[in-house]
Amino acid sequence: MPNGDPLNRTITSGQLPQGPLPLPDQSDPHHHLWTLLESVVDPEIPVVSLREMGVLRAIRESQHGLEVVITPTYSGCPAMSQMHDDVALVLQAAGIQARIVTELSPAWSSDWISVEAKLKLKTYGIAPPHACHPASDRVVLIQQRANRSHAAVVCPQCDSLNTTETSHFGSTACKAMYRCLDCLEPFDYFKPY
Ligand SMILES: [Zn+2]
Repeated sequence: MPNGDPLNRTITSGQLPQGPLPLPDQSDPHHHLWTLLESVVDPEIPVVSLREMGVLRAIRESQHGLEVVITPTYSGCPAMSQMHDDVALVLQAAGIQARIVTELSPAWSSDWISVEAKLKLKTYGIAPPHACHPASDRVVLIQQRANRSHAAVVCPQCDSLNTTETSHFGSTACKAMYRCLDCLEPFDYFKPY
């Protein structure tokens, strides 16, 4: 698989880490840049950084120089070009020369959203993917695995499990609209992916 066409922003390598990425400590050679890019947030959820969402995957040296690697949440995500431009702006403002590379493999998963980001989503009023009731994590997960379309989703306002899907597509395609039958509040659910 060719892995170095400088004109092609989208390459696949299979060398990237999977799962949530913590902010690297100062021993990382790119610690400064990781910290700088913490200011780049998800355009649709401005309380979480691209790293916390699992979209920022790597900062690395390559034969083409410094590269910032991002992976879209799902192919065709309309926010992806915005994320690319936001990263470019931060790099430019800091005077850092780096290529932004979009890699599609391994494919992004909502399991890559950090625990901290899931809490921020909830505080923001969005039920995070695989939202679990504190007292019944196992039950909810088992229900979700058994039947994803009828997963028990926890209300981000009152933690009730008594919720119902009102529309499979919410404010964006990656979210569904739910309503809590206890506090009666409508809310977005970030669908597992
Ligand atoms: Zn509620």
